[in-house]
Amino acid sequence: MPNVTTTSAPRLIALLLDEHDDTQQLVRHAEDVLDMAHPAAREVHALCVTRTRNPELAERLQRLPLGAIVCIVAADLREPVQAADFTRVLQRALEMHALDATDCVCAPAGALGEEVVARLAAGFDGCAFGRVQHLSFEAGGAQADRAVFGGRSTVRVRAASGPWFAALRTSRSGGALAAPATPPALEWREASSGPHDDTEIVMVPGDAARMPVETARVVVSGGRGMQGSEGFELLAQLAARFDATLGGSLPAVDAGWVPVTHQVGQSGKFVSPSVYLAVGISGTPQHLAGVSTTTRIVAINNDADADIFRIADVGIVADWSTFIPALIARVDACRSARTHAS
Ligand SMILES: Cc1cc2nc3c(=O)[nH]c(=O)nc-3n(C[C@H](O)[C@H](O)[C@H](O)COP(=O)(O)OP(=O)(O)OC[C@H]3O[C@@H](n4cnc5c(N)ncnc54)[C@H](O)[C@@H]3O)c2cc1C
Repeated sequence: MPNVTTTSAPRLIALLLDEHDDTQQLVRHAEDVLDMAHPAAREVHALCVTRTRNPELAERLQRLPLGAIVCIVAADLREPVQAADFTRVLQRALEMHALDATDCVCAPAGALGEEVVARLAAGFDGCAFGRVQHLSFEAGGAQADRAVFGGRSTVRVRAASGPWFAALRTSRSGGALAAPATPPALEWREASSGPHDDTEIVMVPGDAARMPVETARVVVSGGRGMQGSEGFELLAQLAARFDATLGGSLPAVDAGWVPVTHQVGQSGKFVSPSVYLAVGISGTPQHLAGVSTTTRIVAINNDADADIFRIADVGIVADWSTFIPALIARVDACRSARTHAS
């Protein structure tokens, strides 16, 4: 077990990791942690792990008021993404970073971030807070606010001794953060995610219809307007292209087009993906009660007056039976053009 001491000033360490190395998501998480650090006056360090060197990411991070940035390139990270790989890279990086008993380590919420912080907490004998909405610090330790009962209530968990590990749910809605007077120090490193252990549990490519909807990063959801299981087969094809999970409204579940374990809403599951694609769903309060307010909703509906358009971030007035096949064809064309270009 790595040694954890108390020597430096308390820090918040933002772990920047994403299944797809998405620059926007990585920067967004750094901003979330900075927002949280502000009242606590903690310095924020960013530890970023990507498969390839990403100068745009480094440049955008240097515009944020971070204490230090370490960009680690681990070209051998496996596909599909393995939390164990990220954990090995980050465990070594945190040891080099002299992780301190007063430090707090934050990954983005989601299946990858949550597993990585749980593994790291075990490795450093620290405190695992799990998925949190907010963290605060006081002389007696750290406290985390966690959503319970599908987001209808919040509990506050306190832990006296660190280091603390948490997966932070995105909550940021504020404007741009003040740029630092001088760009923070940036260090590039190369690392291996190995050695891989033959006995470890690994993720295998999943069937979109079977992956849990609660932890999905993208949910493609259908409603009564899908009119039958053929429509859902098309949604599954679209979901597979985005590594998304299928969801459905209550009428779609009642009709047997999607399993009840994937029902979203008041009497179903609460989901908080980055993007929720609602197809043929009218947008009743009972359905929307199951979608986080921080999620970006993209709605496809052939009725321009459908309630879903009142809340959707992106609204498309179209018949899904023409729009979805065209969207799939467009995604395939873009991907094949990119493959040929590289
Ligand atoms: C106590 C209680 C709990 C409930 N819990 C839940 C719950 O957990 N989850 C849930 O979803 N509901 C729940 N409901 C049911 C809820 O009230 C609604 O009946 C339900 O959400 C409506 O589902 P829908 O949007 O799929 O269907 P509809 O409201 O019928 O909407 C279908 C939409 O599809 C559109 N459409 C039709 N054809 C096309 C096309 N070709 N292309 C594009 N769009 C098209 C229509 O314009 C329409 O807007 C609950 C109700 C109660 C009373």
